[in-house]
Amino acid sequence: MNQKTLVFAKPDGTVRRYAGARLVKAFIDSGFSFEFFGEIKPNRNFMSGKHYVQYADKPFFRPTIEFVTSSPIVTMIVVGEDVVSRIRKMIGPTFSDQAPFDTLRGRYGLYKGVNLCHASDEESAEKEVKMWMDEVIALDKNKDYNKLASEYVKKYIDFQTIDVMRYRELIKDMLDKKIRVEDLKIEMFSLIKKESDFDEDTIQLTTENIINNILS
Ligand code: ADP
Repeated sequence: MNQKTLVFAKPDGTVRRYAGARLVKAFIDSGFSFEFFGEIKPNRNFMSGKHYVQYADKPFFRPTIEFVTSSPIVTMIVVGEDVVSRIRKMIGPTFSDQAPFDTLRGRYGLYKGVNLCHASDEESAEKEVKMWMDEVIALDKNKDYNKLASEYVKKYIDFQTIDVMRYRELIKDMLDKKIRVEDLKIEMFSLIKKESDFDEDTIQLTTENIINNILS
């Protein structure tokens, strides 16, 4: 069945350019096409009041909203045969550090809910595509979104990258109290900076929100 799904690279998968390029490349290599592809910054009210509203009473809700709005995010409407279940399978389970290494979250997500990307599930795909098209995405008929996705991959696929295990090691050291939260912040900022072409303020904000998310 030909379907559409909403996917976005979360800030850990956008600011870390190689991780984002790998995500997009996986979709291109699977033969999917893009009805939209672009880097956008949805506002906090949309993310809290619409996209993640079902989690409003969960302890991870606020940190998740702050995290996903801490940088622009690479946003996609992906089209293809059984695309919803196929992409859910490709990204793997929710927690990056527990996801198998042959899944995108297992390989590129940082830790726990800092997990590279969002992808609609079977229940939510139709609703999310409509909601994002109505309220966040502005389609431009003059743009070739498949070409933009390919160009993104070409630009970032050989970008500097840091082994995800290094981040997980540092996070574990912090959780085991071998290093302080402040030390992790400094170290993670400098690692992400190596992987990114974003400005320092965005990297700083994303780093802080990644850590708050892990601690939530
Ligand atoms: P998925 O993104 O795999 O569909 P959910 O829909 O259950 O997962 O949750 C949405 C997002 O909320 C997750 O991707 C993750 O970022 C965050 N999240 C969910 N559960 C937790 C949790 N227990 N602790 C921290 N963050 C969580």
